[in-house]
Amino acid sequence: MRILLLLLTFLCVAGATFMEVTPEGEACDCTCEEIDRDKLGKSTWYLLHEIVKHADPEYDPAFMLLMKTLGVLYPCPHCREHITEYLESHRVEMTEKWVCEFHNAVNARLNKTIVDCEV
Ligand SMILES: Cc1cc2nc3c(=O)[nH]c(=O)nc-3n(C[C@H](O)[C@H](O)[C@H](O)COP(=O)(O)OP(=O)(O)OC[C@H]3O[C@@H](n4cnc5c(N)ncnc54)[C@H](O)[C@@H]3O)c2cc1C
Repeated sequence: MRILLLLLTFLCVAGATFMEVTPEGEACDCTCEEIDRDKLGKSTWYLLHEIVKHADPEYDPAFMLLMKTLGVLYPCPHCREHITEYLESHRVEMTEKWVCEFHNAVNARLNKTIVDCEV
């Protein structure tokens, strides 16, 4: 339940940030250039890393749902595709190691530094 509340809070904050109105007066559908992808990515990673550090293992199914939901709602179409692909080939685990390795998979694609997930 705590995870779902966290997710709802995150989506509300993200929604307020990303559903901005463009200078032309049209609602931004989250594919437009106004999105700060780095801020979005950093905040989402922070949320995911903190969830697995603190959540009770009984909420494992909620975490799995959260990850699948990100593959549908994450406001960056090509990131969504990658999230869904990763989930198809990697069984979700609500552990620090799983999120670390998922983060590394994205880091590798973006040529960013790989973190040692064993420490
Ligand atoms: C699920 C998801 C999918 C994404 N897919 C894409 C995509 O397809 N294309 C794209 O351009 N961007 C994508 N992003 C955004 C991208 O991952 C970065 O968040 C963004 O580029 C900003 O990078 P950054 O260098 O600020 O650090 P971030 O990658 O945002 O990381 C934030 C901080 O976490 C720490 N960190 C880094 N790696 C790890 C790790 N493995 N374990 C623990 N801590 C770590 C570092 O201290 C780093 O400064 C995705 C984000 C998420 C959450």
